[in-house]
Amino acid sequence: MDLIAGESSKKVLRKHGFRSLKLMSVDMEQELGNEPEPFGADYGRLDNGLVYYVRRNSKPRMRAALALAVKVGSVLEEEDQRGVAHIVEHLAFSATTRYTNHDIVKFLESVGAEFGPCQNAMTTADETIYELFVPVDKPELLSQAISILAEFSSEIRVSKEDLDKERGAVMEEYRGNRNATGRMQDSHWQLMMEGSKYAERLPIGLEKVIRSVPAATVKQFYQKWYHLCNMAVVAVGDFPDTKTVVDLIKTHFEDKRSSSEPPQIPVFPVPSHEETRFSCFVESEAAGSAVMISYKMPISDLKTVKDYRDMLAESMFLHALNQRLFKISRRKDPPFFACSVAADVLVSPLKAYIMSSSCKEKGTLASLESMLLEVARVRLHGFSEREISVVRALMMSEIESAYLERDQVQSTSLRDEYIQHFLHKEPVIGIEYEAQLQKTLLPQISASDVARYSEKLRTSCGCVIKTMEPRSAATIDDLRNVVSKVNSLEEEKMIAPWDEEKIPEEVVDEKPTPGEVTHQLEYPEVGVTELT
Ligand SMILES: [Zn+2]
Repeated sequence: MDLIAGESSKKVLRKHGFRSLKLMSVDMEQELGNEPEPFGADYGRLDNGLVYYVRRNSKPRMRAALALAVKVGSVLEEEDQRGVAHIVEHLAFSATTRYTNHDIVKFLESVGAEFGPCQNAMTTADETIYELFVPVDKPELLSQAISILAEFSSEIRVSKEDLDKERGAVMEEYRGNRNATGRMQDSHWQLMMEGSKYAERLPIGLEKVIRSVPAATVKQFYQKWYHLCNMAVVAVGDFPDTKTVVDLIKTHFEDKRSSSEPPQIPVFPVPSHEETRFSCFVESEAAGSAVMISYKMPISDLKTVKDYRDMLAESMFLHALNQRLFKISRRKDPPFFACSVAADVLVSPLKAYIMSSSCKEKGTLASLESMLLEVARVRLHGFSEREISVVRALMMSEIESAYLERDQVQSTSLRDEYIQHFLHKEPVIGIEYEAQLQKTLLPQISASDVARYSEKLRTSCGCVIKTMEPRSAATIDDLRNVVSKVNSLEEEKMIAPWDEEKIPEEVVDEKPTPGEVTHQLEYPEVGVTELT
């Protein structure tokens, strides 16, 4: 947030706070923060393996954001279990050893939550997360919420009756996903994950399994994978102190035991591929056309200061490329209406840079060509110092705002950070340290450090291209031709450097008519010419 007139003097003082943050002397090999200890939390592990994170935070007042994060998702299912991880999530809200469906509904109503598994939990390929948002002014509600999460960890009732009652709701979700968009997303997912178990493990599963899987199979899955050592409970809220909450967690979780030895959770690799994969989707209801290029790559480590610096350089790269894409979209007769690129984690071992554009009908080929050209242009010529300084200033002001607003962070955001810490080992180092790190590192990252990231966006390395059109226009051969055309242009170095001058940045389309010079006076002693 920028300083504007009328801001309180308190804010001015705090603003000064960022300015006066000292630069650090950094050792690139140094571990980030006190890993594995997450910043700010009362953190520990019970004897049965359960990890807990408890933190005081008063946004919003008298509320707490709780979660049970489980490292179990649909990728662990066998063929005859496809959809079972999600079914378990549903059964959790149906009944446990201590609570019937009626009790759980009553509880959710008492905390003002919407009822239904999908409102309070989610299942992905790699994990299942149960979330509750509760008032803390009545201590018994907090205790009950934690006890419900404890029941989910090991006491979900899986009977034939429970299951038969839940099949209808799950089938409804299944059918809801069977429209044109859903089918397109599913087949895109398969193309992205081809060659990996993930390709065949969309969380919604198979109709056959949802309709007829026996309770014994569901129970077997639940007992095999739901181990306390694969779970964490997170509680962030307006608590008087953290110890009471840790004690509540101990009270409700300590006696929980998993029924068998925990099996190692396997890693399912997603193989890379040299050949570009293509797909063309036609969706008659689509308003316009769109192109999406995904460049897949393994998730990078975030353990040391150097990893953190790399992450900042990556972020600068995405910002800088986005600035160019935005400027192109503002040209007269642009190849796309809008286009941007972002990094996204797809599954545990895999992330992607995903570049997507929307364009006019029959415009997908021109749009694709422009997108590929811009990536190649960065590879050949890099970014200018001026572009990078704009990006650096932007990121500096983002971290400054985050630092200044640090006591305004919502409990749900802090909870999500701890969930990521548990599930994906993402370090939580605290905004003060992050602000100091970024203030120190951002000026050290050069234009060439940033441009290097373009090497990761090659059509010959884990690249998947898809188009969506209301009526079929582009074929896969057409897309392939665009790719080879741009690749040859790059090989022959036929792509010109980015020319800032060519990009109109004016808000006004019509330039005022230039006046004429009527009078010219020279002042040679000071080297000035006066024109009137
Ligand atoms: Zn569901």
